Parts: sequence; C-alpha cells; structure tokens
Amino acid sequence: MRLQGIAAAPGIAIGVAKVMREEQRPERLPIRAEETDTELERLAEAIRRADEELQEIGRDLTDRGREQEAEIFEGHRLFLQDEELIGKAQTMIREERICAEAALDEAMQETVALLESLDDEYLRERAADIRDVTRRVIRKLLHAAEPVDTRLTDEPFILIADELTPSQTAQLDPKATAGFVTASGGKTSHSAILARSLGIPAIVGLGESLFQVQDGQRIVVDGREGVVLVAPAEEQLVAYRQKASEQQALAERYRAFVDCPSVTLDGASVELVANIGSPADAEAAARGGAEGVGLFRTEFLYMGRDSLPTEEEQYEAYVAAARAFGPEAPIVIRTMDIGGDKELPLLELPKEENPFLGYRAIRICLDRPEFFKTQLRAILRASAEANVKIMFPMIASLREWRRAKAVLEEAKAELRAEGQAFRDDLETGIMIEVPGAALMADRLAKEVDFFSIGTNDLVQYTMAADRMNPKLAHLNDPLQPAVLRLIDQVIRAAAREGKWVGMCGEMAGQPHAVPILLGMGLHEFSMSGVHVARTRALIAKLDRSDMGRLAEAVLELGDPDEVRSEIESQLPWLREYL
Ligand code: PEP
Ligand code: MG
Repeated sequence: MRLQGIAAAPGIAIGVAKVMREEQRPERLPIRAEETDTELERLAEAIRRADEELQEIGRDLTDRGREQEAEIFEGHRLFLQDEELIGKAQTMIREERICAEAALDEAMQETVALLESLDDEYLRERAADIRDVTRRVIRKLLHAAEPVDTRLTDEPFILIADELTPSQTAQLDPKATAGFVTASGGKTSHSAILARSLGIPAIVGLGESLFQVQDGQRIVVDGREGVVLVAPAEEQLVAYRQKASEQQALAERYRAFVDCPSVTLDGASVELVANIGSPADAEAAARGGAEGVGLFRTEFLYMGRDSLPTEEEQYEAYVAAARAFGPEAPIVIRTMDIGGDKELPLLELPKEENPFLGYRAIRICLDRPEFFKTQLRAILRASAEANVKIMFPMIASLREWRRAKAVLEEAKAELRAEGQAFRDDLETGIMIEVPGAALMADRLAKEVDFFSIGTNDLVQYTMAADRMNPKLAHLNDPLQPAVLRLIDQVIRAAAREGKWVGMCGEMAGQPHAVPILLGMGLHEFSMSGVHVARTRALIAKLDRSDMGRLAEAVLELGDPDEVRSEIESQLPWLREYL
C-alpha cells in the first residue's frame, strides 16, 4: 500500500510501525455482591497471564544477549506481586464493588500519583514502570492486543499517530525512532520543524488513510517525497535502501561545505545560522556548519516540566547554546512564543477556538510583565557572555513593540541596580510574521535593530490558511506572490533605515526560495541545522545581481507554480538541491 502525505523532514526510514493510541481508561462498571469472587479470580488470572508473558519476554531478551532490558521486565514481574498495589485493587473489588479492570486502574493511579509527588527521581521512574505493567494486566482483562513494544524489536520503529504535540516530538529518541508519520499537521507544524532538527524523517497530513496501518507492519518513509509504503515488497525495499544510500552520498557532498564561509559566486557574504529549541540542538547545528543561531525557540525550555524554568535555568540554557558556537557568533534569542500548536498547560490558559489568532506569545508576556521579565533578565545576563540578541515574536503593532522594549528597559534597570553584568547595547529586534507588522515595516524599521521574517506564520496569516491543515497546503506556500511581495517590501523598508533583515521561517532553507531571497537582499538565513551545508553549497553557485533580476521577475508573476517554473528555467540545475 502506498500513501501520499506532506513531506515534513527529509530522509528515508525503514522500520516497524508503532501505532500510537491514547489508551482509554477502563469503564467503572459496578458488580453484584455475588460476582466478587469471579472478579477477584479474573484479576488473578490476568496477573498470571501477564506474568507468563513477562517471563517469556525476559527469557527471549536474555537469549539475545540483552540482559539489561530483560531486567526491566523482571522488575515488572515484581510489581505484579506488590501487596500494596494488588491488595488495593482487591479491596476495591470487594468494598466498592467495581469490576477488576477499573479497580486495578484506580489502584495504579493512586500509587503512581503518590510516587510522582515524591522528590526522588528513582521513584518517579518506577511510577512509569507501574503504569506500564498494570496496563498490561488491564489489556489481559479486556482481551486487548499488546501494542508493539519498542524495547523488544531489534528493528527501529516508525511512529504512527493522529497528531504529535511539539513536546512529544521533542522527547522522541532519534536512536529508537526511525521516523514518524501523522494524519494531521502541515510542513510548518512544530512537530515537523522539530523532526527536521532531530534528523528524523517525517511525513505529516496523511489523513484518515493512515489508520489502515497496523501495529508491527513493515513501513518505508520517504521524507523527501512524502511517500509511505506499507508492507513493501522485497524489490521495493531494495530500491529504497539504494535511494537511502544515494541520499547519504549527497549529504556527504554537502558536508564539504560545513566549514566554508557563506559567500555567493560574486563574493557577497551572507549569514547562515540555525533555528534551535535547546542547547543540544545548538551543538548539532554547529556540527552541521551553522554560524550561530537565528532563532532560539525558547518556549521549548518551558515545555514538558512541572514548573516554569527559573531565571538561572534559562540563563544557563542560553549560555550553553552560545557556547556551542563561540563568543562572537550571533545568538538570536526569541522570547517565549507559546500558543498556536505550542501549548503550555502550566500557564492555565483557557482553551480557544482559534489558537493561532489568539492569546499567544508577546500578547501573554505583555500582560504578565513579571513573568516576562524573568526571561528578559536571563537573556540579558547571557549577553555578558556571548553575542546575544533579543527578538520579540508576533509583534503586530508599533505599540506592542514599544511596550516590549519598555519592559526590557525595566529589566536592564533592575540588573544595573543589582550590579549584574549585561550588554547594554545588545541588538533588539522583532519577528515579522503578522501582515500588520509587514505593512508597517517602514515605521518599525526606524525603531528596531533588525527584523527576522517568520514565514511560517506570515504565510498562514497572509493567505488565511491554517498552517496545520493539510488540506490547505497549496495556499500555505511561501512562493505565493502575495507573500513574496510582503517580504520584498519588508527588506526594502529595513534597507532604507540601514537595518539588517533575516528570515527564520522554514522558507529560508528551501532551495527554490533561497535564490530570490538573496536577490531581494536578505542578509541572514536561519534554518534547521540539517539544511545549512546544502544551502551554503547552493549559495556558492548564485550571483547576487542575477538573483536580483530573478527576484524582480518573479514579483511580477501571479501564481506560485509560475514562480517555481521561472526559477527552474533560470536555474535548471536547482533540482539537484531539492
Ligand atoms: C515563523 O512563524 O516563521 C517562526 C519562525 O516562528 P514559529 O515557527 O515558531 O511560529
Ligand atoms: Mg511564528
């Protein structure tokens, strides 16, 4: 079976499907007094079956020389004899007269909540084991099939899900996850963006057809073409293995550009920097040839934790990211951009009908100046150690920019009073991702130090097309002439004020876009670390004035396909870089 989706992160992955399903909690069904013994016996039988299964898994792993993993499952067997846990479930069956699966589930929830509340990392990890093993017993009680256990297969797995949240994606282990495929999402969903920085091939927006895939089936993911093959024939596997090695050879060719300066054919320099979400991304991007950071998505520091990061924790993360590049390299730190597809339950924000048009990013920060200031102080302090610049996201009006700048000045005054070091003249800029800001670029350019164009949002707002909706991918195209005109206008407005312009939307690393952005005079290109070397190789083949003429020509066109054809007719070799 061949399925077509939206190519989200390049690369070819071959592995076993692991279909991610939200496990429903069992229903709390009442039982009659005379059913108590039967229910207790059902529980005992399910525990016996789970125990046998675990024993078998342990034996199998030991036979394969994987004693360490075998021990995990031996540990699970011990939980099945745990007096507290099982005793609690038995008492609930007897006293509350509920079915065995609900009793065990509730006993597990109580035990897990208790362990998770403790300040002990080891015990908190045991909570995950208890959840795991009781779910196995519950599946036995419900006669449900066991999902693929990634610890048991030697093959890497391909995650299949309706949707992956950005924090779930950030927690994926690239060693174990060969790729992922989701039913929803678009090219600029944050899970797709994260997949690119983790180097995990991914396809999104496959729609309902994805649910025909079954757990354990062999899958091929072609992240460049957006193609998923389910249960491929042997000759298809051979062809894809060949294709994977060709892509690897191409990547080797780009690797020659990792350590070169970023210059065009006619000798003009540009900056090729990376989009990161963590200090670990910074290290990977530096290895990939990035000259610094054009966008640190700091909101990822806030996700997947029980409390907000402190000033100190943030400061350390910023300094660690900068350390990957050295003291002179530019590090653009964007203040928290929660909202849209990036949720932060800790902030307890009400659910919204239109989260991308809602209460997000700078709008929240301006409402909570103390919260905002914690981050600004951390960034400012990091500026004493590195060439840090501050960037505000989602600025829609002059007033928002001025208010954000005023809070920054307050944070500076506080640090000054405390005698803390920071760079007073650190550059402060804004993202241009709201059409309102793009249209006001001439006014904004008089006050900011730089712009960074965020096309992921700018495209969706300009074309009124949700970036997560796979049905709108044709509108969500940065080569839409309306978007190109706005970008051109922004770059010109900044140039008139002598300010530099970068781009940190995904467009900045797309081979069709790079020539025209160069021609329009873009100075800084910020992208996933994986695309830096390829883009540098491409830029080395481009002449700035020729690209200026090409940009002028495409600005006259009326349709993204015409734009693409014009670029390809001028640069027929460009396809090699796709
Ligand atoms: C953008 O909107 O282009 C951008 C870079 O920000 P994010 O993708 O985090 O919304
Ligand atoms: Mg954005």
